[in-house]
Amino acid sequence: MKTILPGQTIGIIGGGQLGRMMGLAAKEAGFKIAVLDPTMDSPCGQIADIRIVAPYNDEAALEELAEVSDVITYEFENIDYEGLKRLTEIAYVPQGAELVRITQNRIAEKGEIRASGAPVANYVAAKSFDELKKEIEKVGFPCIVKTAFGGYDGKGQVKLDSIDDLENAEPLFAHSDCIAEAFVPFKTEISAIIQRNPAGDSYCLPIAENIHKHHILHESIVPARVAPAVIEKAEEAAKKIADHLNLVGTLAVEMFVLENDEIVINELAPRPHNSGHYSIEACSVSQFHQHVRAVCGWPLRKPKLWAPSIMVNVLGEHVVPLKKIITNYPDWSVHLYGKAEAKEKRKMGHVTIMTDDIEKTLEEIDSTSIWA
Ligand code: AMP
Repeated sequence: MKTILPGQTIGIIGGGQLGRMMGLAAKEAGFKIAVLDPTMDSPCGQIADIRIVAPYNDEAALEELAEVSDVITYEFENIDYEGLKRLTEIAYVPQGAELVRITQNRIAEKGEIRASGAPVANYVAAKSFDELKKEIEKVGFPCIVKTAFGGYDGKGQVKLDSIDDLENAEPLFAHSDCIAEAFVPFKTEISAIIQRNPAGDSYCLPIAENIHKHHILHESIVPARVAPAVIEKAEEAAKKIADHLNLVGTLAVEMFVLENDEIVINELAPRPHNSGHYSIEACSVSQFHQHVRAVCGWPLRKPKLWAPSIMVNVLGEHVVPLKKIITNYPDWSVHLYGKAEAKEKRKMGHVTIMTDDIEKTLEEIDSTSIWA
């Protein structure tokens, strides 16, 4: 266990917006940032002190990152597990590689969540379509079949309403093993972002309520509009999982809330999360500052919510209309990540609005028609 101090260098694998916001938080305190990303002009590359431009699994590039960094972290989970594991032998990687191995594979992830004692939907794992056919009755219908590897934002999954739909799941096996899990008739989706340091101290950010559009996060509302008992269950489940995994750094725990206020864990992300961006303005410590504190071996700060907040994502198609109206909304904090090309559905930025009237602010967002 080490304490990393300002003036030392934090290496980040991945140059996306999460790396950029992590890097900006670290630079405020005087840390230096090194980033490994295949592109020169990545969102994090733009703010980094040292850029290593190479694929994430490039051995020489990882060695170079190890040489220039006093501590190494990552900003997304689809990095090469073997590369990260090698890195743990030649550099200080307090998060280790295990969490990435687990969260890259839905089967391993569900198994670990279950082992932690947190609730998951009933599921079966299948290596082949034939195995799925044999096992599916254990889950029943409706259910969702998901590829074990590589799916995100709703990609790599198929909903089956009855046995007649079974054939629709066959193409998924061309990608990887799959899991079939019971469809959860949730009323709300929420997320807990828990952060833990090597000493084992942890805090959850205030629980966010998440609204998706086309499987992509659209809005996060904080505090989540759920009963206090749900918040308690969410924090308790996140802590169980974090302790079970011996977490260092950040873990986002996405959950469903049922009509009866029970919760079911959907999935994990071993990094700062889109649903925690509101914390930059709205909390006494942002998820990015806290992540830096955790990986640098600093004591964590208890997150305090300054005001209820809404975060709304800015995708490619929202950038131009947002720029047209933004000067009319002095209370909107605009973040754009410096991505050159505003492709449709690509996450380009977000807006956070602190408010004392969530419903009115939701209406205000809708009234712009940008996110219609
Ligand atoms: P995922 O890729 O697992 O995050 O799933 C993307 C979205 O699909 C979730 O945010 C839910 O809206 C929906 N979804 C995933 N799994 C389930 C499930 N078991 N029951 C109901 N909806 C689900």
